Amino acid sequence: RAKATGKARYEVFNTTMHTRAAALLQLETDLRRGLERREFQLYYQPIVSLKTSAITGFEALIRWQHPQRGLVSPAEFIPVAEETGLIVPIGWWVLREACRQLSAWKIQFPEYQSLVMSINLSAKQFTQTNLVEEITEILRETNVPAQSLKLEITESVIMDNAEIATTMLFQLQSLGIQLSIDDFGTGYSSLAYLYRFPTHTLKIDRSFINKIDIDSEQFEIVRTIVTLAANLGMDVVAEGVETLKHLAQLKALNCGSGQGYLFSKPVDSQMAAKLLQEQNIVVDTLPI
Ligand code: C2E
Ligand code: MG
Ligand code: MG
Ligand code: MG
Repeated sequence: RAKATGKARYEVFNTTMHTRAAALLQLETDLRRGLERREFQLYYQPIVSLKTSAITGFEALIRWQHPQRGLVSPAEFIPVAEETGLIVPIGWWVLREACRQLSAWKIQFPEYQSLVMSINLSAKQFTQTNLVEEITEILRETNVPAQSLKLEITESVIMDNAEIATTMLFQLQSLGIQLSIDDFGTGYSSLAYLYRFPTHTLKIDRSFINKIDIDSEQFEIVRTIVTLAANLGMDVVAEGVETLKHLAQLKALNCGSGQGYLFSKPVDSQMAAKLLQEQNIVVDTLPI
């Protein structure tokens, strides 16, 4: 069909395709090399109890320091890593590195024994048949109790792999690992599944938080999710808490935990340790 529309257009199409393919191939090569040359780094963003303002855990977020391009956003390279399968070795690195860090912090800060590390799992990782074995091995190696590890997956990862998910999630639960549903409210999910799966936490997507103080529909949606979580015995974390007004609304709704720029941006491990040391998150000058 491209040929029938004329040579010129065909070549344009072809060039675009070629450029995109070449760029993807380059990115893949760079990702592979980046893994070998240790160009990846983890940043950590605190998750905070809205009741006490204490840091209860961190979400590990990957960063890539590309030698030519500088910092590349995970939004750009995670999808390519997923497509090429490189997310599997990258994901194992993330798990191991985050657990190693958590273990070090628990030694450094004995008062933070119940600190939990949240780690994002993509679809490809989640469907690895050796996931449970590998996680067990990493926990053993790094001396992290299973209760201190929380895995974040999105609704679509669960729904697209419902059968595998059921087995996997119950295996992970039986080890004591916690499970969060990330970006909750943006995917499609069945309430029946939500109830059936051993889910510990709903993370409300930040698109529902950003106007919670001025948009009554957002407020009602968040109220509904918080109530749903409470009725199902789940914890709830609001993502993208950026202002004191956001915080005030979330507290009014009895939302248990929050994460966002108001408390801290994702920071490197040194800065995260400083936050723990100084318990430097206290936002107790609340307007309510
Ligand atoms: P996510 O898991 O939903 O992570 C939260 C994202 O929201 C992070 O973006 C974080 O920096 C950003 N964020 C946190 N608080 C605020 C806020 O108050 N306002 C705004 N505007 N943004 C906020 P980041 O680090 O760029 O990561 C983007 C996505 O990339 C993550 O979304 C996750 O889906 C994926 N990702 C990151 N690290 C990993 C990883 O190690 N493995 C996998 N599979 N995916 C990862
Ligand atoms: Mg996440
Ligand atoms: Mg999220
Ligand atoms: Mg996300």
